[in-house]
Amino acid sequence: MSKNSYSKTYPKGKTIFNEGDSADCAFLIDSGRVEIRVSGIEAGAPVAILGVGDILGEMALVDGSDRSATAIALEDCELVEVSKNQLNERVEDADPVVRFLLSILLNRLKENSDPTRTNLPADATSSTNIIKMSDFKTNSGVVEKIKLEKSLKNALDENEFKIHYQPIVDSKTGTIMGFEALMRWHSPGRGVVSPDVFMGIAEETSLIVPIGHWIIQRTIRDFAKLKQNLKAEKKYGNKLFLSINIAAKQFNDPQLFSILNKTAKYYLIDPSEIKLEITERVLLAGNFVFDWISRARKMGYSVALDDFGTGYSSLSYLANLEVNNLKIDKSFVEKMIKNPKTKNIVKSVIRMAKDLNLTVIAEGVETKEEWEVLKSFGCTYIQGYYFSKPMPMADIYNMMTGRDKVKKAA
Ligand code: C2E
Ligand code: CA
Ligand code: CA
Repeated sequence: MSKNSYSKTYPKGKTIFNEGDSADCAFLIDSGRVEIRVSGIEAGAPVAILGVGDILGEMALVDGSDRSATAIALEDCELVEVSKNQLNERVEDADPVVRFLLSILLNRLKENSDPTRTNLPADATSSTNIIKMSDFKTNSGVVEKIKLEKSLKNALDENEFKIHYQPIVDSKTGTIMGFEALMRWHSPGRGVVSPDVFMGIAEETSLIVPIGHWIIQRTIRDFAKLKQNLKAEKKYGNKLFLSINIAAKQFNDPQLFSILNKTAKYYLIDPSEIKLEITERVLLAGNFVFDWISRARKMGYSVALDDFGTGYSSLSYLANLEVNNLKIDKSFVEKMIKNPKTKNIVKSVIRMAKDLNLTVIAEGVETKEEWEVLKSFGCTYIQGYYFSKPMPMADIYNMMTGRDKVKKAA
């Protein structure tokens, strides 16, 4: 009997496996020592003595070939079995880049340990391989991802990022009240890469941290310039706000608030003019997100819950969350006109938000009809292609000053 449920006892002198045995698992040594012998090598001379923390029989996890050595317990041992299934499951769940690199390493290990196979194409090896090279040769997405990651690293230095701004308007009047800053990457050779793609990679790596700092500095600078220009021309007297998206990884950035505060102070922007947009999904990261929001609010920033309705199954968190804005996801707005149930959901969400004292922003408004419906439900702000696509700040300025002229002329 083993002393642990997770391990098996091998008394001193017991053979764990013999050379030539079929193999489907490896062993992790929890206690004791194991001797490895290989036939043909001087009798009595073990090729290795393994101790606690070592792994033996690991080639069984790489391919289905028989044991190439004999393992004997040198003293009473506790061994934990690692099955091929256990590894397979983890490999399947792993990031595709990790899988890709692991597959290369494992295949190389296999070739090195069995020189007779070195010249065989990797695909011709045993069908029981846990990872086949062919999986990756056809999966050019992984290679492309690695390349993207590399280019993304240079993008900041090479000045390849641009920020576009999408107006957010008052639903009653259509007047511009603020803007959401949306990243654009003009990658040489690739053209414009969607933020859904590159922001995802920036988040998986830690590139989001320096990119995030750049976004904060650049958007607040642009916003301050716009305000200054509008003021100089006595245009748009109403208070404007700037929305900045914050990715989940940025919650762990200890410099984030100091950069925000310093930049806002430098450009004479009050924190109340800035909305930090966080997606519902980040709430799953843990309770520290609630504290982060609370800190942001205490400093005077607005916090908007983005993509509302898409990420979190429980509404109970709304009671403890100090956000003051809620953005209804565009998937609801899109379906609302054709689907009466979706329309009712939108209506109820707007009512609930109002009861909770939250400002409601509807995203993805593409038609006048959608706007009219949202307005009739009492939605505070509207954002979408119907009013404007995201555009460079210079175009926003021209549009705002131009619009004003049109209004005056009318
Ligand atoms: P998001 O925060 O939900 O941003 C709104 C997205 O909806 C934007 O896509 C915007 O261009 C798009 N959109 C706006 N109006 C309409 C409309 O009427 N119809 C349709 N179909 N789409 C509309 P975009 O710019 O491609 O950004 C995609 C996502 O990438 C953003 O979704 C956000 O999650 C992320 N992202 C973009 N910029 C940043 C950034 O600076 N920081 C972070 N952390 N994420 C960003
Ligand atoms: Ca957003
Ligand atoms: Ca959104």
